[in-house]
Amino acid sequence: MQRKIQAPDYHPLPSGPLPSVPVTVGCRSLVSSNCNTQCNSDRELLMADATAPQSSRSRDLDKLLLRPGHLVGPTFEPGTELRDDLQEYARILVVGAGGLGCELLKDLALSGFRNLEVIDMDRIEVSNLNRQFLFRLEDVGKPKAEVAAKRVMERVTGVNIVPHFCRIEEKELEFYTEFSIIVLGLDSIEARSYINEVVCGFLEFDNNDKAVEESMKPMVDGGTEGFKGHARVILPGITPCFECTIWLFPPQVKFPLCTLAETPRTAPHCIEYAHLMKWGEVHPGKTFDPDDPEHMQWVYLEAVKRAEAFGIPGVTYTLTQGVVKNIIPAIASTNAIISAACALETLKIASGCSKTLSNYLTYNGVEGLHTKATEFVKDNDCPVCGPGIFMELDTCLTLKMLMEQLEDHPKVLMSRVSVKYQSKTLYMQSPPELEALTQSNLSVPLFNLMDKSPKGIVHVTGLAGKGDTRQSCSKKLRVVFKGVGVGITDTDMAGGA
Ligand SMILES: [Zn+2]
Repeated sequence: MQRKIQAPDYHPLPSGPLPSVPVTVGCRSLVSSNCNTQCNSDRELLMADATAPQSSRSRDLDKLLLRPGHLVGPTFEPGTELRDDLQEYARILVVGAGGLGCELLKDLALSGFRNLEVIDMDRIEVSNLNRQFLFRLEDVGKPKAEVAAKRVMERVTGVNIVPHFCRIEEKELEFYTEFSIIVLGLDSIEARSYINEVVCGFLEFDNNDKAVEESMKPMVDGGTEGFKGHARVILPGITPCFECTIWLFPPQVKFPLCTLAETPRTAPHCIEYAHLMKWGEVHPGKTFDPDDPEHMQWVYLEAVKRAEAFGIPGVTYTLTQGVVKNIIPAIASTNAIISAACALETLKIASGCSKTLSNYLTYNGVEGLHTKATEFVKDNDCPVCGPGIFMELDTCLTLKMLMEQLEDHPKVLMSRVSVKYQSKTLYMQSPPELEALTQSNLSVPLFNLMDKSPKGIVHVTGLAGKGDTRQSCSKKLRVVFKGVGVGITDTDMAGGA
């Protein structure tokens, strides 16, 4: 049985933005003063330090873990035992072994964590080598997770990193329950949403719809885009989850064709005009190939003509490539800074050596340097981390009967309901093909459809309201079956005590 690590500093969360001191300390002491360097040789020096004897390597860490301070959490107990427990019992999963993932693995290993695992589905490409500093030319084509794990283990003695070369969806849900903290170094919204849903799915709620602390699995999420980045702490049930603040990610920029054709105002407008409109006009039937330098050069020259005609500055060949291929430049120093902040938050959550970031740090290095911590608020009706609507049901209740109940349930009042359980679609109103496929489930008890699990989360979508004012909506149901399992209610943790 895994021993519980030092209780995370959940209460009280700092009310205002966290003083910038801890983040600076993290950069300087735990990682090195070179955390924003882009130069691999500096990194190698840094990694070489890591092979020094244990006592000198943990010197900076000891300043945080072996002595009290006025920023520590209420449960913090300084001492060598805490440091040793962190090394022995804390298990950290790093999701992603790209630009941010490489930095995270190195930072976490140098911050004293010894049990790390990393999951990534990608293989190394030549274009990764400028910033994903754990990889070499001879590694091209090999799985990132495996090479990254090997390289860090070679340089940092005592650390054990288990690589997983697969998609995050391929792992059983139980895989994710094994870890003390999950750290995300991803570049995709979909992957973040998936992990967020999995981790929030572990949440248990008591009878007052309050999240049970023991069921919370903390996440630390980092993200970078060019010179900008963010680090955030997600304590499911307490701080907003990824879904609560999904609006933070703006939809991808697409220019209206009329703007491109009639009223270009920026250099990208001119480039997209040459790429999307002019190319087809001049080369009918010939597909534009973004990897063909001649094609790219043609688009660039057309864009320059267009820009000159409208007096717009700024069209360059590099920008043309960036706009056409939708390239967001990845910058090593941004990854290093965001990773340092994430590794420090991980250490703070695991040890309680300081209050955690509350709860979203943004970094902007476009002009000068600007950082800011913002305390976002949880959405209590969030379909992912919210408690959902509690329903105690009979095991013989069929899916059709449940759907009828939902029409009259005061907190649901939903018609034309479609039902999902985990990744399974139990019933879909449309399209007709799916309806026909799932129709047979209507007469089956929900208990059976949920694999006779004593409780579970069911997601329903349908129409709320009446007549012309009906709107589509979705709700989360926290279903518990009567007379099944140890606890009748879903607080079986308390019941078992
Ligand atoms: Zn949420």
